Amino acid sequence: MKNLYPYFSQNPLNRLDQIRRNDLKVEKLKESKNTLFLLFDGSSIIIDEKNKICLFQRNLINEYNIANEDIILLGEYEGVTYFATTLKAELKNNLSKISLRDFVNLDFLDENKFGILAQGASVLNWHESHQFCSSCGNKTIIVNAGWRRDCVICKKEHFPRVDSAVIMLVTFGEYCLLGRGVNFKEGRYSCLAGYVESGETFEGAAQRELFEEAGIEGYDTEYLFSQPWPFPSTLMVGMRMKARTQELTLDKNEIADAIWVHKDEVRAVLNGKETSIFSIPHKIAIARNILEVWVEE
Ligand SMILES: [Zn+2]
Repeated sequence: MKNLYPYFSQNPLNRLDQIRRNDLKVEKLKESKNTLFLLFDGSSIIIDEKNKICLFQRNLINEYNIANEDIILLGEYEGVTYFATTLKAELKNNLSKISLRDFVNLDFLDENKFGILAQGASVLNWHESHQFCSSCGNKTIIVNAGWRRDCVICKKEHFPRVDSAVIMLVTFGEYCLLGRGVNFKEGRYSCLAGYVESGETFEGAAQRELFEEAGIEGYDTEYLFSQPWPFPSTLMVGMRMKARTQELTLDKNEIADAIWVHKDEVRAVLNGKETSIFSIPHKIAIARNILEVWVEE
């Protein structure tokens, strides 16, 4: 089976949970020569395109007057400590910003480190949207090197959250079900997907979404593999299931069209066939990994 590692799913960092609670050690690491910084502006990353750099030294933090308390500890790997912070200032010299979706096409960073990008972008996005306490509305401050925010008044502790979404390979014999979301560009099809609701298992969410969107009952539901998806902070949970029937009843609010496609046709499209009536997702989407695994079975 090829490429069981969706983009953003590999992260070699030791997240240094013990160090996070030690402010002195964290502050010392922020000043260390063996520390590198990722800089984000939303889901875009700051790069030095000329020198092919996306991990920067401390001097850049000083140059842009970024406050130490706004820098989040990501972890350590091979003697280097990684931090992330937000930079919204006007960029100088060789710096520019690029969306994470486009960044993966550059060869600035090994693919087995892309998980560090997802970690940094997601946690920074959470900080940006949790400046105020959801219990009392007062200001919150960064604690534990960025892995908690505490309310300054009611002291409630807030932790970074991840939203889970299931994405499903639905098969009937040698056919799989692909759908076109109402917002998809013409001709693009993908696996059906949806967010996990409160009180639901991954299996339950997958079966519910399949029934809601396509009117089909699924069974033999199994977990495949998952992918951190930093837009802004979702865990895509790859699932597979079999369909009882092929008869479709689409929810037209969510699904513009759905089709059963033979494995040979999916394989051909994955291999670059351009004459098909449909195209499948970009290489960074877990849906593509799911289909790749299936056609190789
Ligand atoms: Zn509060």
